Amino acid sequence: MRATTAWQADGPSTPMRRVTLHRRELRLDDIAVRVDYCGVCHTDLHAIAAHPGDGHPPVVPGHEFTGVVTAIGPEVKGFAVGDPVAVGNIVDSCGVCAMCLAGQENFCREFPTLTYSGTDRIDGSTTLGAYSREYVVRDRFAYHLPEGLDPAAAAPLLCAGITVWEPLHSLGVGPDMRVAVAGLGGLGHLAVKLAVALGAETTVMSRSAGKAEDARALGAQHVVNSTDPVQLDGVRNSFDVLIDTISAPHDLSPYLATVAMDGTLSHVGHLGAVSVNMIDLLIGRKKLTSAGSGGRPATAELLAFCAEHGIVADVEVLPSARVDEALERLGRNDVRYRFVLDLADLD
Ligand code: NAP
Ligand code: ZN
Repeated sequence: MRATTAWQADGPSTPMRRVTLHRRELRLDDIAVRVDYCGVCHTDLHAIAAHPGDGHPPVVPGHEFTGVVTAIGPEVKGFAVGDPVAVGNIVDSCGVCAMCLAGQENFCREFPTLTYSGTDRIDGSTTLGAYSREYVVRDRFAYHLPEGLDPAAAAPLLCAGITVWEPLHSLGVGPDMRVAVAGLGGLGHLAVKLAVALGAETTVMSRSAGKAEDARALGAQHVVNSTDPVQLDGVRNSFDVLIDTISAPHDLSPYLATVAMDGTLSHVGHLGAVSVNMIDLLIGRKKLTSAGSGGRPATAELLAFCAEHGIVADVEVLPSARVDEALERLGRNDVRYRFVLDLADLD
């Protein structure tokens, strides 16, 4: 086993603890990655909050990271030691179901192996994430980091970025389309940058008045205060695509009212049961959908698109020892727009 260092959650309300953990020895098609930067996703907060505490397996969060290949298994062809790479929140899948064959490993029939708190397909162990100095991953689920993308600011592309790219892309967002992004956080700010780069007329729906200027700086043409019924009424039946990235349970009705006829609300934020009044869909034949993460082809395509358009996240990089501060500030919406941990202090 390969010893490395990591930040671990032992329960929902205890500080993160610096621990030694052991990665598997490399399998034939594994690569070892020295993790340099790992984004702090709101899902990490949800995962820590859901930790039952005493006696339950620890959670090591972290599922959007960049780093450098330090070792390769004997059958690895596509990577060499020293390559800069990026890894997201899927590290394995069955590879043979219709979803995997279609390049949608994120929807694998056997459920994809998640980067943390997932179950390894071969040894059954619980996966431990990238708030850690090393990660061992099957080569198929690592991506070459394109030249020109800053490795710290690119890390969030691998979860926040791909999660919004897939719906934007599959819903055909491009010029002449009106896109709204609800919730201007980690996912939301990347959704704005991507929608703008795809040529869409883009509106931010935020309850934080202080973010309006940022929204315009990110490229959005319009900003709507989502707590103001008059402003919401002003954009009734307006958006061909609405990407909802809000991290808390919320009423979909006011957001569906802003979707145009035959338009789509893609709810990629807080996951869980939602209640929908069908009238909100009936009037205007609106569609409600969701998405999560992305398959290998879409992830590679996103990285190429971001390299071509110079898109990375707006990040605040902190030494990983300040992980508790990052989580606490993310929890109270005090981030512009993604914390990224620099793991070098774990050496
Ligand atoms: P984030 O950076 O905290 O951003 C969430 C944004 O939601 C906030 O900036 C805020 O935007 C808005 N918001 C928060 N609480 C709200 C409330 N009570 N009412 C209305 N708006 C609220 O979080 P993130 O990392 O982008 O993640 C967003 C959500 O997506 C999380 O629930 C996360 O677990 C989920 N997620 C899903 C996937 C997937 O595969 N589908 C992948 C990654 C993350 P304003 O200040 O602009 O209002
Ligand atoms: Zn995430």
